[in-house]
Amino acid sequence: MKKEFAVIGLGRFGGSICRTLVEEGVEVMAIDMDESKVNEFASIASHAVIGNATNESVLKNLGIRNFDHVIVAIGEDIQASILTTLMLKELGVNKITVKAQNDYHEKVLSKIGADFIVHPERDMGKRIAHKIVSSSVLDYLELSDEHSIVEIVANEKLHGNTLIDLDIRANYGINIVAIKREKEVIVSPMAAEVIQNGDILIVIGSDEDLNRFEKKMLQQIR
Ligand code: ATP
Repeated sequence: MKKEFAVIGLGRFGGSICRTLVEEGVEVMAIDMDESKVNEFASIASHAVIGNATNESVLKNLGIRNFDHVIVAIGEDIQASILTTLMLKELGVNKITVKAQNDYHEKVLSKIGADFIVHPERDMGKRIAHKIVSSSVLDYLELSDEHSIVEIVANEKLHGNTLIDLDIRANYGINIVAIKREKEVIVSPMAAEVIQNGDILIVIGSDEDLNRFEKKMLQQIR
C-alpha cells in the first residue's frame, strides 16, 4: 500500500521535500496559502491545494487526519507553524515532522508533540563547517550532541595498514563501518582489510574520539 504524505508550506525546504517524495514514488498532497506556489507544484505533487493551515476547517476538509505523515515546512511565521502543528496533533495525524526556526520554536514543538523536529539551516551549517575546518573530512552526520558519523579520506600514513594493525577501536574507541574505494563499497570491513591511500573511511564514534583520530592519524604528517 502506498504511503500518503502532505507537505504544508512550499518554500525551498518544503518544496524540496515534496519533489523528493514524488521522485520516491509516494503520493504527496502539497498545501500552501500562496497561490503561485500551489500553481508551481500542481504538476509535481499528486494534489496541490491553496489553503491556510492555521484554519482548522481547511485541515479537516482536506482530510488531513488520513495522511500517514504530515510535514510542516512553514518557515518565518513561527506562530502559524506552532498552531498548525497543534491542530494536526489534535486531529490525530499519525506522524508530524516540523521545520524549526530556532531553539525556542523547537522547545514548543516538542512540548506539543511533534514527532520529528528538523533544523535544516543549522544542520547544514554544522556539516559545512566540519568540512571546511578539516581537509580530510568529506562529510559529517550528527547522530546526537556527542556522536557522529564522518567520512575521512585515508592518506599515505594509513596506506598499507590493516584495520588490526591500526586497532582503531581499542586505540580510539571508534569504528570503521565501511570503506569506499573508487566504485566499491566494503561494508563492515574485516580486520585484515588493507587500507589504501585515497580510501574513504566511514567512521562512527564520539566527536571527541573522532577528532583525536583525525588529528593523530591524518594531520600529523602534513
Ligand atoms: P524556505 O527557507 O524553506 O524557503 P522559509 O523558512 O523562508 O522557507 P517561508 O517562506 O516563510 O519559509 O514559508 C514557507 C512557505 O510556507 C511559503 O510558501 C508560505 O506561503 C507558506 N506558508 C506560510 N504560512 C502558511 C500557512 N499558515 N498556511 C499555509 N502555508 C503557509
